Amino acid sequence: MGTNTHSTVIIVGGGGMGLSTAWRLAKGGHDVRVLEQFKFFHTRGSSHTEHRIIRRTYNDDLYSRLMPHAYRLWHELEADSGQKLVYLVGGVELGPDDDPTLNDIIRISGELNVPLEVMTPPEAKKRFPQFNLPPNFLLTFCPENGFLAIDDCLRAQAEQARQHGAILQDEEPVLEITPLAHGAEVRTAKTTYTCDKLVLTAGPYVKNLLKQLGLDVPYTIELNQGHWFKVDQPELFRPDQFPVFIVRNDRDQMGGMYGFPTFRKPGIKVSVHHSNQYIDIDKYDMIPRQETTERVWDWVKAFIPGASSELLEVGTCPYDFPPDEHFVLSLHPQYPDIVMANMAGHGYKFASLVGEIMAQLAMTGKSEYDLTGFGVDRFFSETAARRPAIHVDILRPGAH
Ligand SMILES: Cc1cc2nc3c(=O)[nH]c(=O)nc-3n(C[C@H](O)[C@H](O)[C@H](O)COP(=O)(O)OP(=O)(O)OC[C@H]3O[C@@H](n4cnc5c(N)ncnc54)[C@H](O)[C@@H]3O)c2cc1C
Repeated sequence: MGTNTHSTVIIVGGGGMGLSTAWRLAKGGHDVRVLEQFKFFHTRGSSHTEHRIIRRTYNDDLYSRLMPHAYRLWHELEADSGQKLVYLVGGVELGPDDDPTLNDIIRISGELNVPLEVMTPPEAKKRFPQFNLPPNFLLTFCPENGFLAIDDCLRAQAEQARQHGAILQDEEPVLEITPLAHGAEVRTAKTTYTCDKLVLTAGPYVKNLLKQLGLDVPYTIELNQGHWFKVDQPELFRPDQFPVFIVRNDRDQMGGMYGFPTFRKPGIKVSVHHSNQYIDIDKYDMIPRQETTERVWDWVKAFIPGASSELLEVGTCPYDFPPDEHFVLSLHPQYPDIVMANMAGHGYKFASLVGEIMAQLAMTGKSEYDLTGFGVDRFFSETAARRPAIHVDILRPGAH
């Protein structure tokens, strides 16, 4: 085998996490090759559709404590690339005043000094007249939340990785991974490579590759839909007037709605976190579901009437969930030269940090960050560390 087929690190999957890992590793002086099955920046993975929420507010304090590191690295990417990527327009979360998730967010934000205002419906109406809130709701506002321009982020990471010498290869599906005594062998549709360390960032397509490596992880793949709605008064929905929002309502079908101000398209984008539409990723069945559209539109009619007159566009995007909805940021339990990241449907905001964590796990076998409960071993071992499941939507089969 020629020397040009060996790399110190091979990254399988050039989406959000893979390109970030390539940036961190290449910037750290490591020899990296990324193998992506489709064209880079394609729309069959989890990392597209205009923007992603970034927030300090979580109902599990570990995520809130990790977030400042992610912000720092996003700002480093902005500085390296000379591009604006992070839009801290503020974020509101709304839900019934007794909603457990909303109350955990308020409590944890207080404990960690995350700035958070809590408003009753009359107070919220003055500040954000765009929302119609039921009388038993609360609305929280965190000025440090906002969104990432995801397409720009991916391109900036790819460009920075290339500038630091990473080899980025697309349209090259990885068919087989064979662990070796040292490193791994990777067979693609074109050739066979070897590496000292392998980073698996295959997003919703990871299950078959993990099975080859002896791990049958119970990920379910859901089809998420972004809906762009026309706004009647555009001046009320610009980023300087309208924050990102998330509905916290564990007991209701309306829970998990979230959305963004107008950005580069005329409408606001609204989605529901759990569509409850499960797909077979290998069949590329990504046609928008009418049922999801109706669910989202009904919510918009009730809560943001000024954006309910016309549906402009729908985009689909698959994502992967383990049953507890926590990240997998982990060494392979049997093959320590193989590390992996899967982001449980809420991880793009962490991509900058995940790149750093994957680089540390791959090169040193450990990370300086607290990853308690993110091990892949939790699906197979009774004694592995676990975190309490994230409560998002009671309609999800097998949900907590
Ligand atoms: C619509 C939607 C909205 C979301 N909203 C938010 C949000 O607001 N905030 C937030 O933080 N997170 C959000 N998320 C979650 C977040 O976007 C994902 O967790 C994140 O993008 C996952 O990135 P990834 O790199 O793991 O997966 P991907 O970006 O899908 O990358 C995996 C890549 O691996 C490639 N690949 C797979 N198998 C192979 C193979 N065999 N050979 C070669 N290449 C392979 C795939 O083609 C793909 O490019 C959202 C997700 C969706 C779908």
